[in-house]
Amino acid sequence: QTEEEQTEDYLFKIVMIGDAAVGKSNLLARFARDEFYPNSKSTIGVEFQTQTMEISGKEVKAQIWDTAGQERFRAVTSAYYRGAVGALLVYDISRRQTFEGTGRWLNELQTHSDMNVVTILVGNKSDLKDAREVTTAEGKALAEAQGLFFIETSALDSSNVSAAFQTVVKEIYNILS
Ligand code: GDP
Ligand code: MG
Repeated sequence: QTEEEQTEDYLFKIVMIGDAAVGKSNLLARFARDEFYPNSKSTIGVEFQTQTMEISGKEVKAQIWDTAGQERFRAVTSAYYRGAVGALLVYDISRRQTFEGTGRWLNELQTHSDMNVVTILVGNKSDLKDAREVTTAEGKALAEAQGLFFIETSALDSSNVSAAFQTVVKEIYNILS
C-alpha cells in the first residue's frame, strides 16, 4: 500500500474529564507514550494526542484531548467538548470528593455535546490500596445507574490503562461502523 492509497478510515475525538489531579494526564501519557510523571504539574498537558489503534482489522485513530489544568477553575470550554464521541470520566479512588464530583462532569458533558458520548467511568490510582476511599462496587453501581462503562486503572503500574481507552474506541467503532 502506497502512502496515497492509505486512507484514514476513522478518527474519533475523545475527551479526558474529571477533577484536578485524578490522573487524567498521566493516563494519557501512559497510554500514548508509556510514561509516568510522579510529580506532574498541569503544564505537562498537551492539547491532544493522536493514537492509532487496530479495531477489527481496521485502522482507527483516536484523537484524545487532555485539559491543561483549567478544570481547577471550572473553566473547561465548549470547544473542548465540540465533536467528541467518547469520554473518559476519571476520579481518584483514594479521594472520595473526586468520585462525588463526577456528577457535575457528566452534566457538563451532556450540556456541551450534541450526541450521546460513549463514556467510561475510570477509578484511577488503583495501586493506592491502603488509601482507598471509594470501593469498586460503588464505582460499578454508579456506572450502571448512569449507563457508563466502568474500569479501575493505575497510570502508575499501568494496569487496565490500555483497556480503558480500547473499551471506548471499540464501542464508538461498533456504533458508527
Ligand atoms: P490530572 O490533573 O487529572 O491531569 O492529574 P495528573 O495526571 O497530573 O496526576 C496528578 C498526580 O497524581 C501526579 O502527582 C501523578 O503522579 C499522580 N498519579 C496519576 N495517576 C496515578 C496513579 O495511577 N497512581 C498513583 N499512585 N498516582 C498517580
Ligand atoms: Mg492534567
